[in-house]
Amino acid sequence: MEFVFEKEDFHIFLDGGSGLVACGRELGINPKKKKIYFVITHTHWDHIMGFPYFLPFHNENMEFTFFSSTTSKATFSDLFLGLQRSRHLPVPPFLLHAKIKFESKQSDTEFLVENKVRIQAHQINHQGITLGYRLEYEDKSVSVITDNAPINDGNYLGEGMKEKAAPDPKAFEQEFDESMVRFLRNCHTAVFDTHFTEANLKPDWGHSTPERALAYCKKAGVKRLVLFHHAPEDMDGDVDKKVAGVQEDGRTHGVEVVAAREGDIWNLSN
Ligand SMILES: [Zn+2]
Ligand SMILES: [Zn+2]
Repeated sequence: MEFVFEKEDFHIFLDGGSGLVACGRELGINPKKKKIYFVITHTHWDHIMGFPYFLPFHNENMEFTFFSSTTSKATFSDLFLGLQRSRHLPVPPFLLHAKIKFESKQSDTEFLVENKVRIQAHQINHQGITLGYRLEYEDKSVSVITDNAPINDGNYLGEGMKEKAAPDPKAFEQEFDESMVRFLRNCHTAVFDTHFTEANLKPDWGHSTPERALAYCKKAGVKRLVLFHHAPEDMDGDVDKKVAGVQEDGRTHGVEVVAAREGDIWNLSN
């Protein structure tokens, strides 16, 4: 997913799933803008499988910075460079000629990109340490919560959550939901995980539903909810049904509900 800053001389992408391959082809090996930043939510395959095929990594004049969490098990740089090892790919890491920098980020921290884009990171309920991100630029704001399971009834998937919840699980669950609302507060657009429906929800798989995404957005005053992380087995009709199921409720609370489609560009102006 790309955040487009037309006036600026840099790109910011979120994760590197299969869609990144086409983005790389479009940019070519020598993109006009030489700085590319990535915010990484986590390292499950569906979020990283495009990296080995992203052409701009092969240009020595390109500069990349990756912002990601570090779990107790692995660093993002190990994993990124591991993708290029010979057992996975014929192109070894030393053939990526670009300058590549890795910066570790914790939950509930914020940082600036090029002194222009304010980014906040927040741990969401998914395996490992998965970060949701909120980006603010001029008067525009967008949040992306790619993978987030319901937290209730002890469904603690993120690293460290079980320990934090131990003294008072109910209070922990309530605070998790409230902190999500604070994170999304008054955001123009929230791109949110709606992999499941209420009928086929498997909470321990780490994903949410349109109803749960909308509940957060209504409380937070979000203007537009983009249903995202569609289940691989879902056809267009299934996604349309998800939108139709919550659209009216959204409308009555001032939240426009749409579904993400490959190639869509969302304008963040009112
Ligand atoms: Zn995942
Ligand atoms: Zn995912």
